[in-house]
Amino acid sequence: MKIVVLTGAGISAESGLSTFRDNNGLWENHRIEDVATPEAFARNPDLVHKFYNLRRANLKNVKPNPAHFALAEAEKKFNNFLLVTQNVDNLHERAGSRNLIHMHGELLGKKCTFCNKISRIDGKLCKELVCEFCGKAGGLRPDIVWFGEMPYEMERIYKELLQCNLFVSIGTSGSVYPAAGFVEIAKQAGARTVELNLEPGEQKSHFQESIYGKASDIVHDFFGNL
Ligand code: NAD
Repeated sequence: MKIVVLTGAGISAESGLSTFRDNNGLWENHRIEDVATPEAFARNPDLVHKFYNLRRANLKNVKPNPAHFALAEAEKKFNNFLLVTQNVDNLHERAGSRNLIHMHGELLGKKCTFCNKISRIDGKLCKELVCEFCGKAGGLRPDIVWFGEMPYEMERIYKELLQCNLFVSIGTSGSVYPAAGFVEIAKQAGARTVELNLEPGEQKSHFQESIYGKASDIVHDFFGNL
């Protein structure tokens, strides 16, 4: 059986990371347009750096929850298992997931806009920082796919969706494309499609099955009974 799982901010909610939409569409009290677009970064790089520096520093205060661990277990149980996350935190890998795509980038990544090199960052980013690869200052940004930018590894993800037998979407509102469209692709390819969420997401009508509850309860149960 070939399985593709898509996760969103809801799977990390019980670890203490706030989701996008649970707070009137604000992310940690910021409008998306102010912190998660290339235009916002061009307009106010200090604010955007500060926002992601805080999110990155906060990773030290949070831990994976049972839903992250259940997916790492499922990866071991089923040998054809791909996890695609929209999340920029590192909780899936800390729980043990290995076959993982961060389609929206990672808080622990930085990218140079001059030479396009991507590398790790544990500390703070700021606009004065010099790129260790090209030696230029002022071009480093968080390795986050902002609204209006192309997510990572889309070719590989579509290929896997077209071949999968089971597609499971966990803790995502189904409002951010292209991830929101994955269920339709999997369905057209003949896969069983399942939504695990706290409440119905916007793509509800495309799923054959839906299970509602906290991720820490329902993810373990679903994969345990598979
Ligand atoms: P979203 O905020 O739009 O939706 C969150 C979904 O999770 C909702 O459907 C909600 O009902 C559900 N949910 C909340 N608590 C839950 C729980 N305990 N168990 C199960 N489900 C729960 O998030 P999204 O769909 O991922 O899309 C928004 C974008 O936000 C993504 O691109 C992502 O990069 C970014 N984001 C990431 C993080 C993170 O990395 N942890 C946090 C906030 C936002």
